[in-house]
Amino acid sequence: MGIGALDIAIVGYGTAGQAAAIYLERQGHRLQVFERSAALGPVGAGILLQPTGLSVLADLGLLGHALACGAPVHRLVGTNAAGRRVMDMRYSDLAPDWFGLGMQRGALFELLKSGFVHFNDVISGAEIVGVDDNGRGLRDVGGGRHGPFDLIIAADGAASALRKALMPQVRDRLYPWGAVWCLCADPARRFDGELRQRYRLARRMCGVLPVGILPDEGVEAHRVSFFWSLRGDALARWPEQDLDAWKTDLRAYWPEIAELIEGKHSPMQFARASYRDVVMRRPYRDRVVFLGDAAHAMSPQLGQGANMALLDAQALATALQREADIDAALATYTRARRAHVPIYQFISRWLTPLFQSDHDLVARGRDALFGPLGRAPILRGEMLKVLAGVKCGLFGRLRPQLRETIGRMVREAS
Ligand SMILES: Cc1cc2nc3c(=O)[nH]c(=O)nc-3n(C[C@H](O)[C@H](O)[C@H](O)COP(=O)(O)OP(=O)(O)OC[C@H]3O[C@@H](n4cnc5c(N)ncnc54)[C@H](O)[C@@H]3O)c2cc1C
Repeated sequence: MGIGALDIAIVGYGTAGQAAAIYLERQGHRLQVFERSAALGPVGAGILLQPTGLSVLADLGLLGHALACGAPVHRLVGTNAAGRRVMDMRYSDLAPDWFGLGMQRGALFELLKSGFVHFNDVISGAEIVGVDDNGRGLRDVGGGRHGPFDLIIAADGAASALRKALMPQVRDRLYPWGAVWCLCADPARRFDGELRQRYRLARRMCGVLPVGILPDEGVEAHRVSFFWSLRGDALARWPEQDLDAWKTDLRAYWPEIAELIEGKHSPMQFARASYRDVVMRRPYRDRVVFLGDAAHAMSPQLGQGANMALLDAQALATALQREADIDAALATYTRARRAHVPIYQFISRWLTPLFQSDHDLVARGRDALFGPLGRAPILRGEMLKVLAGVKCGLFGRLRPQLRETIGRMVREAS
């Protein structure tokens, strides 16, 4: 069926906006893309793409390039400070050729940029603050007006200004803990293949994810993304952190990892991140549709947000192609994401305090139970589905055919 060429505004050129721009440009729509940052580029260190996100990159014809830059991750291993294994999950236990892909955000940004022909037309330094013109136009922070548009895509991230303006009633809470992050060189590739985490109760969590290289770099430039969990008050004080004292502490806690950080001399070499929990039951209002974190920000504990953003863009594009009018397409988009998004929000909300909180009893329970639960037949399968991003509803699985599709795509791309 299909709706015909529309005038579409995309607000925010992050992962969701980037993927939506590629899909919708290819469908022949006329796009205007607005980005708040004056310089277009990624924020943050590294990211873990799941089989779900990789399937979207494959759909966009970008999987081969992603595999050339990224670092395959086959296993997630979490140990507590006493050396007890709390978590040990392998993608291959769910499907033999599945894996995650660690990527530098810069590499993912460049990859998605390469798929958007009209990248040079992205309007940077344009902070959109509200809608006008009966919901068909946009207003920027300087009072400038844009539009009218047939459809407005709000992909302006976790703290979405459009969500606050149009849907002030939705659940939007700040998690009490966040993290600091940085990229570190790992030329010897000592951390290949695994996402490793170490916990001391839930008060301390740190981890290392291999994230590969940027598109034009050689293999010797391989990096890892390092993260260190902090409570909100400590996160706010991080710029004043005595880095030498912190490094001494880290050396005692996890010596191997401390070596990675030796080259850092200032807290400002780490990016700070806080997270939100946003729940929107119907991710659109009139002709403004929400994608990515703007619609469903969650804690990064499960490593799903960017993957969700990619799936959102794909689902919206598919709906616009299938339906005869915009209202039907927005309803179809909502249905397509309904069984998948809420279960991840629910699990993130309950799981995050097990890894980032002052609740020592809860953390001790985690250390005692996670290992045995992770080996129990049905539960193990469910935990693996959560990890890979394919859990849908209580016992369902996102698109059962994904297993075969990903296997084929990976074989083709490599
Ligand atoms: C520490 C951390 C680690 C994470 N790790 C992972 C991981 O391993 N795997 C994973 O899948 N996800 C991870 N995530 C989540 C992931 O980063 C997000 O879910 C993903 O970036 C969401 O993409 P988005 O496009 O919706 O939002 P964003 O990437 O935040 O993009 C929003 C864009 O909108 C722009 N913008 C904002 N406001 C306006 C405005 N008013 N007008 C115009 N433009 C505006 C911003 O500048 C930005 O470019 C992590 C998140 C954090 C914080």
